[in-house]
Amino acid sequence: MIKKNFVALLQISEPGETPDPHQRKRAIGIDLGTTNSLVATLRHALPEVIEDHLGHALLPSVVRFSQDGVQVGQEAMEQAAVDPKNTIVSVKRLMGRGFADALEQSLPYDLVDAPGMVQLSTRAGPVSPIQVSAEILRKLRERAELALAGDIDGAVITVPAYFDDAQRQATRDAAQLAGLNVLRLLNEPTAAAVAYGLDTGAEGVYAVYDLGGGTFDISILRLSRGVFEVIATGGDSSLGGDDFDLRLVEWAIREAGLGDTIDGSRLSEIAQATTWRQLLSEARRVKEALSSQPMASMHVVLSGDNEIKIPLTRERFEALTSDLVEKTLLATRRALADARDALQGEPLNLEAVVMVGGSTRMPQVRQAVKALFGLEPFIGLDPDKVVAIGAALQADALVGNKTGSDDWLLLDVIPLSLGVETMGGLVEKVIARNATLPIARAQEFTTFKDGQTALAVHVVQGERELASECRSLGRFELRGIPPMPAGAARIVITYQVDADGLLSVSACEQTSGVKAAITVKPAYGLEDSQITEMLQSGFAKAETDMLERRLREQQVEAQRLLDATRVALHHDGDLLSTDDRTQIDALMDRLTQTAQGSDHQAIRAAVEALAAGTETFAMQRMNRSIQRALNGQQISSL
Ligand code: ADP
Ligand code: MG
Repeated sequence: MIKKNFVALLQISEPGETPDPHQRKRAIGIDLGTTNSLVATLRHALPEVIEDHLGHALLPSVVRFSQDGVQVGQEAMEQAAVDPKNTIVSVKRLMGRGFADALEQSLPYDLVDAPGMVQLSTRAGPVSPIQVSAEILRKLRERAELALAGDIDGAVITVPAYFDDAQRQATRDAAQLAGLNVLRLLNEPTAAAVAYGLDTGAEGVYAVYDLGGGTFDISILRLSRGVFEVIATGGDSSLGGDDFDLRLVEWAIREAGLGDTIDGSRLSEIAQATTWRQLLSEARRVKEALSSQPMASMHVVLSGDNEIKIPLTRERFEALTSDLVEKTLLATRRALADARDALQGEPLNLEAVVMVGGSTRMPQVRQAVKALFGLEPFIGLDPDKVVAIGAALQADALVGNKTGSDDWLLLDVIPLSLGVETMGGLVEKVIARNATLPIARAQEFTTFKDGQTALAVHVVQGERELASECRSLGRFELRGIPPMPAGAARIVITYQVDADGLLSVSACEQTSGVKAAITVKPAYGLEDSQITEMLQSGFAKAETDMLERRLREQQVEAQRLLDATRVALHHDGDLLSTDDRTQIDALMDRLTQTAQGSDHQAIRAAVEALAAGTETFAMQRMNRSIQRALNGQQISSL
């Protein structure tokens, strides 16, 4: 029965409906990488990476803003040395990041302190990382449209498992800007696992070791009932193939005796950007060659009669870079330890290790990983392409090309936030959108009124601030709360979504232990398009929602203060002089009036006025209660 819900939740096309080949939708998977990006699709049921007209599969993730417009890929990269400020590399590092974050990365660009996300000052004016990424995506979209002879119906784009909400949203925005219909964002390690068909394989724990150009990511996934859950991530955001290149350059300079010389002209020549670039790209070539042959030679012609030409063995190269490999192992061990913690005593039986990223072609990396895990790592698929291939498989299924009862779609994240309605019709998010499944989160709530014995729990789904604008998933009541002053009860509400996407919500009052619970199916009946719509309306309305939220908050605060004041007047009103009483009554009237309006600032002012106007009264009440307590004590001690 649980499984049935899952199918209903995720199956896009009707059972038994077989799309005729001419009606097949065009779906693509995109690996939007830090160094390189790729696009893949399914042809004749087989995934393949789409190449450009020159036969290149990899598109360097480089964008240059030049006089004649925007260049993307190889041609942009070739200009990086001469035009560094207008040639943006590794823009992925800036996605969803603020100015301060970007400054820390010490990049060669002129950064603009824009609100929200950082911007880069280029010849084309200030551009945001979203726009830069959109250029890369647009190039890939065009490549795909050419190859598939038509418009693309949908795309799955991969992101690192550790990407937070801002980074994911920035990626979605970039895709939209590039004219792509995003079916889903998929975690890179999950995509790699899907490419190897592990989603239909044995349940258990999988490691994905991804060493790219500038980043190292290690992810530990757990597969249960066809759904991947990310149980731990780790890595090093500034460790990748580039560091191996740099080692070779440093070595070559030393070897050629250029590093030790005090001959100023030679040193400055080395320091020149073009020479430096030349050395780096030669180092990269040599490094890549050494992955398949035992020897290679560094050869760089400098101006004049200077040149560097030094042979190098793989052994020597491995010795020069062994500490870099060791660093990845360290992060891997740490992630494994985190995964063990997350499993809480359940044994960590690793089913397989998947290798991703161009740098895992280096034999020493493969050997080190094999030794660490005691498993032969998966290297059957091209490590550059494996993420794009997994994304293409996923896109094909999501767009509705795949049918049949067991063609389940993998849903490893929650598409919309899950929340609970609080006073004033506001939504408190308990589980954020994109959280990976399964997941459990608890939050503590309390009563609003003195002596309140029941609490209504309204479970909603969506990104909006108001419960009325979200989708209602269910309601239940927690009864039997012992009477207590407002704010004293401790009600823990727990949301739990299992691997099938089934949500259960429970509420428990901590001091008395009274409990209530319901089970609901969160996205049941929601189409992907509806989810997109709800998301878009959530973002578009964010500002009006914020205003609305402030208003409701102030109204709730007004009500709370009015109630409390009334109670106080009822008990200790005799402490007040007639004048004081008239003044407080006037302040209460004013607050009652303003709270009915829609000016949150005015309500706030009236709240503050009443709070200030009752300060002395509060002090008098406190004195009285202390007095009472002291009297009581005296009696009992007699
Ligand atoms: P990213 O995921 O960061 O976009 P990639 O997975 O495309 O990066 O990896 C790019 C890196 O892989 C570069 O540093 C490149 O030099 C390296 N690389 C590609 N092929 C080889 C090879 N045969 N041997 C060693 N390194 C390689
Ligand atoms: Mg990558």
